[in-house]
Amino acid sequence: MTDLSDVAARKVITPTHRYRNNDKAVGVGNAFWDRSEQEGVAGIVAELDNGVLRTADGHEFVNFTCCSYLDLDSHTDVIEGAVTALRRFGVLDHCIPRSRVQIPALLELESSLGELWGGDVITAISAGVASAGLLPLIASGHLGNGVRPVMAFDKNCHVSMAGAKPSCADETEVLTAPHHDVDYLEDLCRQYERVCYVVDGADSLGGYAPVQELAVLQDKYGMLVYYDDSHSVSAYGERGMGYIRAHNPIRDERTITVATLNKAFGTSGAAIVLDGYGKHAHRVIERFAGALCYSQPMNTAAVGASLASAEIHRGPELIALQDRLNTNIALFDSLISTEQAGTSYPIRVVPMPDDAVIDAGRTVYEAGFYVSPVFFPIVARGTAGLRVMLRAGQTEAQIRRLGEVLVEVGAPAAEVSP
Ligand SMILES: *Cc1c(COP(=O)(O)O)cnc(C)c1O
Repeated sequence: MTDLSDVAARKVITPTHRYRNNDKAVGVGNAFWDRSEQEGVAGIVAELDNGVLRTADGHEFVNFTCCSYLDLDSHTDVIEGAVTALRRFGVLDHCIPRSRVQIPALLELESSLGELWGGDVITAISAGVASAGLLPLIASGHLGNGVRPVMAFDKNCHVSMAGAKPSCADETEVLTAPHHDVDYLEDLCRQYERVCYVVDGADSLGGYAPVQELAVLQDKYGMLVYYDDSHSVSAYGERGMGYIRAHNPIRDERTITVATLNKAFGTSGAAIVLDGYGKHAHRVIERFAGALCYSQPMNTAAVGASLASAEIHRGPELIALQDRLNTNIALFDSLISTEQAGTSYPIRVVPMPDDAVIDAGRTVYEAGFYVSPVFFPIVARGTAGLRVMLRAGQTEAQIRRLGEVLVEVGAPAAEVSP
């Protein structure tokens, strides 16, 4: 018999780390967070008052790394919407899986968002939960035509999608595709019966998916594309439909789009936008898409806030807010030179040397603006920078002053056009 007091006789586990590696993630990532926190550019606690944040010791700053690009999160209609819905439905969440019993709140929101963006919408409590639930169902062919696709995850896809690799790998083959490499995907399409490409519609460091080129492959080979358009919904396109729905000609079961409602949409929750999937697929999602079936749905306050935001999306105010956002982006571009300058995208990365980026972030913070320093391992070595996000609610004076401060810490000023 094995002597259990003998440690050497017990099994040692050697992980395969095919799709995730916490030793690496925590080991390298913690150093980033520890340094950021020590230098005072992370771990900040502040109250929000009229667009300005104030810490307990009285330091005031404007947040330039907030993804609420249209400032709808503090819009009075959105806040009223949350309160009104709570009163109307009389319950925050009637706790039981919606496949059994549900109050009509979610159905009302799904119908509203479906009308708004011209598709069939299923809600989830977050985009992360939606992807964790949907991707394995796509991998096994249960959400689709029954054929298991090879799952090609874009190398840079958001962690909320990449995190589903191990569960997809138990259902099918999983690959990591080079970033936006359409030739690589076409090669896969020639080799495999079916391919599903998993990619961000708009990247969190700037840039859009090559939606038109992907549509060619979708058309030619039946390739499925799973887009997470969290960064462009509301901020971009007619009625805030986002970059993907504004430009993708493939509006059928070959395209699945998810988007958080927590960024520019200004509320909480997420929308899965489908076309051409029938009731059967909806039932499969409701019953088998992981946390979508066994965990809580969006609560009534989030539903009410979202119904109100959807109303704003239907009217002229959305266009006005998008215009203000675009004006602010253009103003910033006229002050600071970045790789993203000239694009409609609200995120800019102001390049800085790796060893100077934290100090620069702290100086900018002391001057009254929060911009988040990003450096290895969040981004590759040698590509460090200060991440700046423009919003509709920032004033011209705030943006101009930020531009001055950025130049003082070594940011490249934009060339003045002749
Ligand atoms: C912010 C973000 C998410 C997270 O959205 P939640 O609804 O909070 O889970 C997911 N995907 C992308 C691409 C994001 O930018």
